[in-house]
Amino acid sequence: MAWDIGLFRQKASKPQNQLFQQSRLQLAAWYAGVMGVILALLGFGMYRAIAHAHAVTIDREIQSVADALKNALKVTLADEQQLKQLPPQLLPDLCLGDQRCLEPIQQTSSPYLQGYYIRIISPAGELLATAGARPQGIPVAIPTETLQTVWDDSNQHYHQVAVELFPNVAPTITPTALEPESWAYLVVGRSFQDFDEYLASVRWRILLGLLLALTLVAPASWWLATLAMRPIYRSYSQIQQFTADAAHELRTPLAAIRATVESVLRLPHLSEADAQDTLGVIHRQNQRLSNLVSNLLLLSKLDIQAYPPKQAPCNLVDLIHDIAEEMAAFALQKKIALDIDVQTDSTATVLGDEENLYRLLLNLVNNALTYTPEDGRVTLTLQQQQQQALILVTDTGVGIAPEDQAKIFDRFYRVDTARSRQTGNSGLGLAIATAIAQAHKGTITVASQPGQGSTFTVSLPISS
Ligand code: ADP
Repeated sequence: MAWDIGLFRQKASKPQNQLFQQSRLQLAAWYAGVMGVILALLGFGMYRAIAHAHAVTIDREIQSVADALKNALKVTLADEQQLKQLPPQLLPDLCLGDQRCLEPIQQTSSPYLQGYYIRIISPAGELLATAGARPQGIPVAIPTETLQTVWDDSNQHYHQVAVELFPNVAPTITPTALEPESWAYLVVGRSFQDFDEYLASVRWRILLGLLLALTLVAPASWWLATLAMRPIYRSYSQIQQFTADAAHELRTPLAAIRATVESVLRLPHLSEADAQDTLGVIHRQNQRLSNLVSNLLLLSKLDIQAYPPKQAPCNLVDLIHDIAEEMAAFALQKKIALDIDVQTDSTATVLGDEENLYRLLLNLVNNALTYTPEDGRVTLTLQQQQQQALILVTDTGVGIAPEDQAKIFDRFYRVDTARSRQTGNSGLGLAIATAIAQAHKGTITVASQPGQGSTFTVSLPISS
């Protein structure tokens, strides 16, 4: 991260630096925001799941208490008259009859009824008996549903389960026409106070967890934003560098043309020889400019397109012979031996754009001949290794220092700028060759010894 901040500060100008910092901040804020929302939703979902699971467990517990009591009462009771005879251990703190049974009492003496209230209500809606806790304000009424939520005066909520009590009739072999009528409702309710307290503590814990997660998410978002901005910044710097280099390359021939024209304009008379010289210079510089512009156009095309658009079978044996033929005159002029060494029986056919593959090899052979002194040797070798065709361009030239070997594939990079300019080269030859090789799913590597020569190896997949 420190490296990146340093990089932003060093390379970008002030407004650009601010723009990158601002974008990074915005990206980090978005990351943190999105993560925050996701975590909050997860926390909420978790809370709802815990609350639901607990509520279901408690409701089941109330239901089982109600069922157990119903079964016990069924054995001992046939109607409300027998309520008085109930054993005290079955329903502790039993209160029979009137409204006094709803008045508050100290805690129930029965440990198994802690938090529970029990009511027996007649079918007419009258309170027949109570046991257990006595929450204030819960109305006595005929239950309308088996499971109900009710509130007391202090807004504390309870769940209550209602079951019907039937007289204990002995089963008969022939069923009676009419089912016996229930003589009362047994209502069992339980306070949710402890449950609410537990849920409040869960809420706090989730909230604290969320805050803690957000304090971790904030630096993580900043770090992620830095990672995301790094390639953008790098390609932005490359574009800036490329624009500056291209402008510089264009300026050189333009300045040469201007200087030549200005010097001629200062002459009082222009002889035919001067005119020839001037036009010669303008023509050369114009040629250089055209080459540069067409190289730049080709590079941008290679950058943009899913290349190569043409997918035709290209015979590499024919291709290297054509190149050797085209470069023979240049080799002769430089007194360099140009050889071909085909070490495979197959035609080594690759799928791609022949014009561009020709261009790739031409750039390499042109370089080999350019950077090899008189009486040297340049060899074009074709080999096949499994499904790869290897084309080696070997020269006995000046070689490339190890520290330059990785850089020579960069756009506009030249080891010896002055010398390279004299040859009219712009430093784009290897960049174009690399882009073409990559577009054909291939690679270019270099092995070189300064003073002894270089070998550029192009590897291309053979079409099956
Ligand atoms: P240029 O257009 O200047 O030749 P290239 O991209 O083709 O640009 O090559 C980049 C640099 O790599 C050249 O300036 C040269 O210094 C070096 N180079 C390329 N090929 C060779 C070679 N065969 N022998 C020595 N140096 C080479």
